[in-house]
Amino acid sequence: MIQVHSLVASQREFFLSERTRSYQFRMEQLHALRDMLEKYEKEIYQALEKDLNKSQFETFTTELGFLYNELKHTESHLKAWMKDEPVDAPITHKGTKNFIRKEPYGVTLVISPWNYPLNLAIAPAIGAIAAGNTVIIKPSEHSPATSSLLNKMIKDTFDPNYFAVVEGEREVSEALLQERFDYIFFTGSTEVGKIIMREASKHLTPVTLELGGKSPAIIDKDANLSLAAKRIIWGKYTNSGQTCVAPDYLYVHQKVKDKLLKEMIKQIKSLYSKNPLNNRDMVRIIHKGHFDRLTSFLSNGKIVYGGNTDSNRLKIEPTILDDITWDDPVMQEEIFGPILPTLTFQELNDVIMELKHREKPLALYYFGEKEKQQEKVLTSLSFGGGCINDTLYHLANPNMPFGGVGNSGMGGYHGKSSFDTFSHQKSILKQTTKFDLPFRYPGGKLALSFIKKVMK
Ligand code: NAD
Repeated sequence: MIQVHSLVASQREFFLSERTRSYQFRMEQLHALRDMLEKYEKEIYQALEKDLNKSQFETFTTELGFLYNELKHTESHLKAWMKDEPVDAPITHKGTKNFIRKEPYGVTLVISPWNYPLNLAIAPAIGAIAAGNTVIIKPSEHSPATSSLLNKMIKDTFDPNYFAVVEGEREVSEALLQERFDYIFFTGSTEVGKIIMREASKHLTPVTLELGGKSPAIIDKDANLSLAAKRIIWGKYTNSGQTCVAPDYLYVHQKVKDKLLKEMIKQIKSLYSKNPLNNRDMVRIIHKGHFDRLTSFLSNGKIVYGGNTDSNRLKIEPTILDDITWDDPVMQEEIFGPILPTLTFQELNDVIMELKHREKPLALYYFGEKEKQQEKVLTSLSFGGGCINDTLYHLANPNMPFGGVGNSGMGGYHGKSSFDTFSHQKSILKQTTKFDLPFRYPGGKLALSFIKKVMK
């Protein structure tokens, strides 16, 4: 624990030396990060296979490829992002120059989960580095191969006084949270997010909380059903449903339910084969506790497809449940696994009324062709972000912030919003000394009548 204390202290010294500030230094670190990922690519594939049975295809598309893209985008825009941002000023500010300077916070902490253990540790760190901060990553204890590889790679590449990994269980997280950080970026469950915010408040440390929730996929009667089925199956069963923005459940129009479920079964067979438990590419469930929690949901409603499990290899078939109600246990918490319950509706307004009274999800997906209905969903419901006629894809656009709202989190990142998240916006007014407008000073009727005119 003393090590944690001295690490934070030495990172603070490093930050205060101002070495992290220059554009050149930041770019060198981003290049070093890219080189590190390239150098260790083989070991990264091995670690993710060990932790989650991820195939190289899945590791590249959802972890490595995402990071390369994020690095490329950041490197090509960093100079512009770092520039002072000039802003207009009212007439009362005649003679002044006004601008916003982007200032690094200082010593930052990134706490990450196990489901995309490389991506969710490194992607926030890219923002922290780009903005000129030092970084400590605390990865998840549930993905030990990737966490220890992260430690090894970063130790091998960076000065720990600037960028370090601290591995360990929850106690290590708790010890870290006793320290004073200048920014904390947390990805994980809503429950732990509340603890992070409480601990951060002791030092008034600002936080970003990337949390979870139950993200619905709403399928209206005029949706393109075969495409909807394919995109939902992909979004749900990538990483075996262990994705924060995976569609958690289906909310389908009664008229098209049977047809949609038929299409979905067809798509499962085509994407994951008829025997998914033996499919090399099927990601496993992270640990026994999570496996047991998930399999307990299999008695809810009626299994219309899948339902087989392999407790030795911690695998669960892509499963669809029907005859589900809001009272079933599977609807009481975020599922975070390859089980997809189905609810039905007859009027979109009823869905909106229902969801309005529930916690705001991290994502929402609406499938339907009518613009009016799409708009209704977008304006009536609050959620982190989402897609019309697709799933997950919104988070792969670096020009949009990715994050939750309410119970699904606060703040956002990716691309420029990562840079903004890790930067304090310092507002500066540079006043002229060539003249001094008199009206702000007390005294005289003229001053008051003038100021009333311009300020009202
Ligand atoms: P988790 O909250 O259990 O753990 C996340 C991290 O917090 C881990 O590093 C863990 O060691 C640490 N931690 C756990 N308990 C702690 C405590 N009491 N004090 C301090 N630190 C503690 O989450 P998880 O099981 O690793 O991940 C699953 C959750 O993460 C799901 O809810 C999922 O939706 C969410 N998630 C969100 C996003 C997003 O971008 N919004 C992405 C991935 C996962």
